[in-house]
Amino acid sequence: MTLIVQKFGGTSVGSIDRIQAVAEKIATFQQRGDRLVVVVSAMAGETDRLLELAALCQKNPGARESDLLLSTGEQVAIALLAMALGEIGCPAVSYCGWQLPIITDANHTNARIRSIDDRLLRTALAAGKVVVVAGYQGVDEEGNITTLGRGGSDITAVALASSLGADECQIYTDVAGVYTCDPRVVERAQRLDAISCQEMSELASQGAHVLQGRSVELASRYSVPLRVLHSFDRGPGTLISDLEPLPTKERPGLSGIAFVRSAVQIAIRGIAAASGIAAALLRPLGRANITVDMMTQNVAADQTTDFIFVVQASDFDKAMNIADRAQQRLQADCIASDISLCKISLVGMGLRSCADMTTKTVEVLAAEGVEIRMIAASETKISVVVQEDCLERSLRSLHTAFGLDIETAHADFRGQRSLVAGGALSSICASSQDRSIPPFGRG
Ligand code: ASP
Ligand code: MG
Repeated sequence: MTLIVQKFGGTSVGSIDRIQAVAEKIATFQQRGDRLVVVVSAMAGETDRLLELAALCQKNPGARESDLLLSTGEQVAIALLAMALGEIGCPAVSYCGWQLPIITDANHTNARIRSIDDRLLRTALAAGKVVVVAGYQGVDEEGNITTLGRGGSDITAVALASSLGADECQIYTDVAGVYTCDPRVVERAQRLDAISCQEMSELASQGAHVLQGRSVELASRYSVPLRVLHSFDRGPGTLISDLEPLPTKERPGLSGIAFVRSAVQIAIRGIAAASGIAAALLRPLGRANITVDMMTQNVAADQTTDFIFVVQASDFDKAMNIADRAQQRLQADCIASDISLCKISLVGMGLRSCADMTTKTVEVLAAEGVEIRMIAASETKISVVVQEDCLERSLRSLHTAFGLDIETAHADFRGQRSLVAGGALSSICASSQDRSIPPFGRG
């Protein structure tokens, strides 16, 4: 018997109609004889709505109370889905994280899972029930409810799949898989049949929102076969795995292009201090949970130093406060910032060894008249920072230049073992691109 962990995101359970459609889909797997654990996110927009309510009550709400509040979004969704399953004759039971429990550390709003007690899950599965589990939440050793960070339901799904030894962890979402670029921006983006964990991790950390980055690392570490699929369309989706031979591996070079639409550059100029500059900035930035993956430190002719780094726009205020404090300590002349930037990252394997990839990147952008503000290359990515209003143009021309554009009306796909049910499901939020893909791998 196959054991599958399925995760449905907020848009997939964003209304009662959709919850009912998800229940129908789950029932087709159940009827096929699969054992199912279903992880659910809060209904679309609910977590943001709760955050807004919190801000109305307290200027800086405490992390413990925030977690207690935010965890309710998932609690509503699991109960409603279990009811919708019951209504169509599919026996189901739902659990919050603390009920199992899923034990985490005490790092509120960004907790990490320490252990999972899966006894209640196993008992319910043995009784033939679908088990619906609240994503994104757990409980610390003291009994305080915690959350795993935004998008954390993916982490819950992978962790449960690992704990139960599931045959596959399926992430259902509003796109048909992992694409070479966001298909809403680059129309000619194509769905990948498969991608390695390392490349997927890199795409996620460089701005691709299809999967939460930490969930990919977990899947890699515990060898959980992970698949991204469209909630309401048929199709094989994208397999994220290091275990199976990857068809994409045969195509050298890039797997995809990710981007961060709103990035800001902060420059601390004319620093008199001679040493400890990066440390004085990176430690407080790290403590504030701000990710900095692009930075330069340059000594000018007058022997003062400029330190320049890039962060996401949402971290701008926090990062500026830290820069202000560092300015005094480092005796710097001034701080300058540019808030109208974006970051584009080309991701693939072995990029550093192909110097011509970086050359080609800068040539393509030069031909488009796009000014590069910063550039960095590593083994698995080439990142460039450019003006935000050049984003779409840059993405499309790079996508074409690196041969990532889809050639036919729809992506071809190669035969692969799949645990995906076909099933006549209503196309509630069909993406036009993959609608023509035939049903795949039934039964
Ligand atoms: N509901 C949470 C969020 O919006 C977790 C998730 O969706 O995975 O971030
Ligand atoms: Mg998500």
